[in-house]
Amino acid sequence: MINEGRLLDTFLEYIQIDSETGREKAMCDRLVADLKELGCIVTTDEAGKKADSDGYNIYATLPGDESLEPLAFSSHMDTVSPGKGIRPVVQDGVIRSGGDTILGGDDKGGVAAIVEAMRTVVEKKLPHRTIEGIFTICEEGGLRGAKNLDYSRIRCKQAVVLDGGGDVGKIVTSAPGQLKLTATIIGRAAHAGVAPEKGVSAIQVAAHGVAQMNLLRIDEETTANIGTFMARGATNIVSPQVQLIGECRSRNTEKLRAQGDHMVGCLKKACDAFGAQLEYQLDTIYLSYQVAEDDPLVIEIQKACSSLGITPSLVASGGGSDANIMSHNGVKAVVLSTGMDKVHTTNEQLTLQNLNDTALLALTLMKA
Ligand SMILES: [Zn+2]
Repeated sequence: MINEGRLLDTFLEYIQIDSETGREKAMCDRLVADLKELGCIVTTDEAGKKADSDGYNIYATLPGDESLEPLAFSSHMDTVSPGKGIRPVVQDGVIRSGGDTILGGDDKGGVAAIVEAMRTVVEKKLPHRTIEGIFTICEEGGLRGAKNLDYSRIRCKQAVVLDGGGDVGKIVTSAPGQLKLTATIIGRAAHAGVAPEKGVSAIQVAAHGVAQMNLLRIDEETTANIGTFMARGATNIVSPQVQLIGECRSRNTEKLRAQGDHMVGCLKKACDAFGAQLEYQLDTIYLSYQVAEDDPLVIEIQKACSSLGITPSLVASGGGSDANIMSHNGVKAVVLSTGMDKVHTTNEQLTLQNLNDTALLALTLMKA
């Protein structure tokens, strides 16, 4: 049904347009041109200014049968690094990078699949629901494009976000929320040999605080980690300062808050005990989302998969995506897997089968 050759060409062209997070403009410009050419009504926004990017979010609409519930299709245009000068290699049904960069299948596999599905709908004059394409910047490293989308422009109350790992057929119906903890422990410097009793060792305090924390796997839906523990100094000086950066995630918002408070509490206690000071920030990076297994959108996606001979499965994710942000802005969203594999590494790969299946699934969901 789709044009597989055209889809592959589009994908290969898109991944060869450099668009590391914050530098997406060339990709945005190209996608706007493609969407307009295929017949979409396209608008863009000023999200780049707020998201620290030279690019922008894209809103594309293909008006369709008004008696059907409209559906949005979303993918992000940015990639992680190293994502400059990608030289794709297609061999034995698998697309890989030249080995020195990522491939960029995360998430241009989704972008190319949505474009191909839209092209097919238009070209074959297939009856279809109203389709919105929402293409974001700055998904990697903070979902800043989705956070700055103009939700008043999005008509759809439901969306599929084509941005998941694993073979096509996975439907991510829940994903965790995430808090980020940034803390500075301020001790007191003193000569470690001459007058150590006059000092307060920030390293000792921080170590004590972290040692008291419940970390890593907390329970089935909650995790926590300290990723940065930073202090540098001479051995003859009592350490005056330590910086800690950590996170916690949970699919349960109460547990998420409790874990964040627990981590801060451990640091506070240690600081009090040793006479150190604590400066900290606990930021909400995103909140969790959960869509019921019997939700009409989930059932529709499962049916669409089955009609293509793809086995659907419902999964809970351990990470956040634009779907988390959309879900808290009036757009019920689930993430669909696109087959992207070993993402964020130079071994990233995508099979032609998954690329084609992603476009076919999108097309099936677009059709009336
Ligand atoms: Zn992604």
